Amino acid sequence: MQYSDRISRLKAEGAFAVLAECRRMEAEGKSIIHLQIGEPDFDTPRNISAAAVKAIQDGHTHYSPSAGTMEARAAVADHLHRTRGVRVDPEDVVVMPGVKPVIFSAIMGCINSQDEVICPNPGYPTYESVVNFVGANPVPVPLREENDFRFDVDELRSLVTPKTKMIILNSPENPTGGVLTRSDMEAIFEVAEEHDLWILTDEIYSGLVYDGEFVSISSVPGAMKRTILMDGMSKTYAMTGWRMGYGVMPRKLADYLATFAVNNFSCPASMVQVAMMEAFTGPMDEVNIMVEEFRKRRDVIVDGLNRIEGITCLKPQGAFYVFPNITQLGMTSKEVFDLLLYQAGVAGLPGTAFGEHGEGYIRFSYANSIDNIKEALRRIEKVLVDTRAKA
Ligand code: PLP
Repeated sequence: MQYSDRISRLKAEGAFAVLAECRRMEAEGKSIIHLQIGEPDFDTPRNISAAAVKAIQDGHTHYSPSAGTMEARAAVADHLHRTRGVRVDPEDVVVMPGVKPVIFSAIMGCINSQDEVICPNPGYPTYESVVNFVGANPVPVPLREENDFRFDVDELRSLVTPKTKMIILNSPENPTGGVLTRSDMEAIFEVAEEHDLWILTDEIYSGLVYDGEFVSISSVPGAMKRTILMDGMSKTYAMTGWRMGYGVMPRKLADYLATFAVNNFSCPASMVQVAMMEAFTGPMDEVNIMVEEFRKRRDVIVDGLNRIEGITCLKPQGAFYVFPNITQLGMTSKEVFDLLLYQAGVAGLPGTAFGEHGEGYIRFSYANSIDNIKEALRRIEKVLVDTRAKA
């Protein structure tokens, strides 16, 4: 059988492959501490689950309009006003089963083959994968530790060519936990204005900022006319398995995305849209407890990693990842990843799973209990001491 050329340009995600490997090892009786996963280990808040159950019982079990119900789109618009201070028209909102389909369809809708798209590197691998899929070229903008894993705007400017069509932002960032500041956003917007570029801003970690403020580029005056803003329920509300996200964008693109939805998955799930509305308007206690717990875990893992010889770790301001520097260990990211997984039973991800500028780093997710994080730190320290003793 023959397959299309384009399908082989899509890349699998490292975290899913490592999870499969961990499951194989666990089936053989090995003990693995999972620090590779990008999802909260908390249950969805009870009021949200109850709203979904009630929605099913009330008959929200049919197709909805392809871009989501008008009530759900209006709820997103209200939520964005409360959280970012921006006013958007519900007609510019598209509700989809997760942020991923918004990324996919927005890139399909704006980017032609041979165009260039500036992607954060290390960065979420889906961006480069989808840019390659449409036959365009991802251009990595390095996020450097010495700059707190933020953009260097002069470097960004130097990467723009006549073929550049889009800049992708992700703040707080996966994998570094880095957060862009208001002045970063203003400077990035200036570059986009100067060169007439789309800005795709993936704000999936917007609810997980521990120090400082979350800033959306949408709050820079004039930005929305060239911005595709996306966020979703997966991380902030511990709803990864529900599949619910949304995008806000100029009307014509929103209409194209609705047509994309009709041709692909028809519409987002009706009862999950009701659950999303409850998440936006219901009590936040369980979410607040989760965020506070993530902050504690971040402090435990950062302090613990910095006590281990050969490892240094910045304290990230957001998301639930740390991105420690392992260059002093004298091994590549992949070698350290293998050592930790196969000799210590600690699963992380090599920094290179997020692009070439991730070399010299490992990503750990702290979506795991403090006890497990402490045990992982003990195992990491021990395997490094043993390895040094053998050398
Ligand atoms: N964007 C980033 C930066 C992510 O890290 C993830 C999940 O890991 C997603 C998007 C996927 O979000 P969703 O579950 O809404 O598709």
